[in-house]
Amino acid sequence: MSTSAPLPSATPVSPDEFAGRTALVTGAASGIGLATARRLGEGGARVVIADYNAEGAASAAAALRDESVEASAVTVDVTDPASVEAAVRFAQDTYGALHLAVNNAGIGGESAPTGDYDIDVWNRVVRTNLDGVFYSMRYEIPALLAAGGGAIVNTASILGSVGFAGSPAYVAAKHGVVGLTKTAATEYAAQGVRINAVGPGFIDTPLLQGMDKQAYDGLVQLHPAGRLGRSEEVAEVIAFLLSDRASFVHGSYHLVDGAYTAR
Ligand code: NAD
Repeated sequence: MSTSAPLPSATPVSPDEFAGRTALVTGAASGIGLATARRLGEGGARVVIADYNAEGAASAAAALRDESVEASAVTVDVTDPASVEAAVRFAQDTYGALHLAVNNAGIGGESAPTGDYDIDVWNRVVRTNLDGVFYSMRYEIPALLAAGGGAIVNTASILGSVGFAGSPAYVAAKHGVVGLTKTAATEYAAQGVRINAVGPGFIDTPLLQGMDKQAYDGLVQLHPAGRLGRSEEVAEVIAFLLSDRASFVHGSYHLVDGAYTAR
């Protein structure tokens, strides 16, 4: 399945927007993370592709280097604090400092109502989608402070503000990401670290792969825009939130959802 609507004509990207800055993007081997890494690289950032899919991360970094982006890959498991700490250190050691981070790694989890939800699946989803964002910020924030300031965007979801039957773990974790983002934003706003979240609607990425046409069309119906979103459309908003153009944007939760939550 894929959305057939054409992308709006791309706005030219300034190659100097992020010049001299290093960005770490988790979950960047695929989907929204890869589109974000590409968009930041087009804007002049040096990009660290961090993912637990080592092969996918290496080939994403190679593809970006072919597009003249300065990119490296590091294997990370965001559910493991030591692994996250090592990835942040890798970015600092490779490029001298870390200025920007996108905490985007995430998984879906199986669908079942709360009263039947498998406890192991709950733990896996919450550890990846919520603990993983905390561990990432836990090590990124000191690195950004050491660099003299910077910006973080956490990938939440529309399901960080509304419920979705059959997805209790995902919904709870994404609500947690929104709360964590707001809290950390208040803690570091005065020290030059801006922290925000994005809330994508359903986006056509590998996360939705395997869905049959009926389920896909059902998701489309939930978006008044009449289609699912594209990774590039989320990446554009993340890039704005990381850029100096968003200099007074702190602690926001920015929806990119084709009016899903406005219905
Ligand atoms: P995706 O499956 O294409 O990409 C997710 C990436 O995260 C993969 O490369 C995967 O290897 C990586 N990853 C998973 N667990 C990891 C771990 N423990 N450590 C390191 N990397 C790990 O999915 P996507 O749609 O691009 O999702 C990216 C983010 O966007 C997720 O947080 C997801 O919850 C969120 N999101 C997606 C949608 C959607 O409809 N696709 C909607 C709203 C929010």
